[in-house]
Amino acid sequence: KDYKSEVKPTWCPGCGDFGVLNAAFRGLAEMKLPTDQTVVVSGIGCSSRFPHFMKTFGFHSVHGRALPVAQGLKMARPDLNVITVGGDGDFFSIGAGHLIHAALRNIDITVVVMDNEIYGLTKGQTSPTSPHGHVTKSTPYGLLASQFNPIATALSLNVSFVARGYSAKPKDLAALIQQGVQHKGFSFIHALSPCPTFYHTFDAWDAAVTPIDSGHDTQDKAQAIALALETEKQYTGIFYKEERPTMDQAAHQLVQESKSFDIAQYMQRYA
Ligand code: SF4
Repeated sequence: KDYKSEVKPTWCPGCGDFGVLNAAFRGLAEMKLPTDQTVVVSGIGCSSRFPHFMKTFGFHSVHGRALPVAQGLKMARPDLNVITVGGDGDFFSIGAGHLIHAALRNIDITVVVMDNEIYGLTKGQTSPTSPHGHVTKSTPYGLLASQFNPIATALSLNVSFVARGYSAKPKDLAALIQQGVQHKGFSFIHALSPCPTFYHTFDAWDAAVTPIDSGHDTQDKAQAIALALETEKQYTGIFYKEERPTMDQAAHQLVQESKSFDIAQYMQRYA
């Protein structure tokens, strides 16, 4: 309750996003993350209403642009915990370009993508994660494009923390959110979050969701990619993680160094 705002969620009954919200409440509470030191940034979509329901600071930005806002915030205020939330349309369609460059920069922010494989807010058109052949109002003869693979994409972009959770298992998802926030670097959490109004029911994913074997080596990227490419199962847990310098740390170090930069010494050496 420490993280719950007074605004009641306006999602449809049975929406998967309730489970992700509960996981966020639980994960933040377990870390005792100060609400005045935490900012939740979103784009536009059903799941992007998220910041309204949290007692932290929030920024409900523009469609596909949550990541530029979040990155700017973290660069300007490295002391804040920055969590970016949104849906598959926001991150993998209009915001896909931002995802690529944010991942490569390894800025210390956490991204939680609530993936329902459909556009819910606009009433059921295909999204990048809709499966090939899926029939909707926008694809009456079936989707001709291939299905976007979020985990394999994150791994190929060298993301330093890659995990998947399921909104029907909020306790496990809370642990992933917690580890993602604690990770120093860009953490990517793919949260399966059904849209029973326009597509999936929980039953469909209940059958496919499979926890990653406890013996999985989270530094073995080849194995992580093999798990990500599995089509029959939706593996959950941490696929991959590594520690490496973040861009926000490196930039602030450069700023500090530039304050003691001696131009006369530089000219003498390189003239
Ligand atoms: Fe959730 Fe779908 Fe309703 Fe949007 S349309 S609130 S994603 S169930």
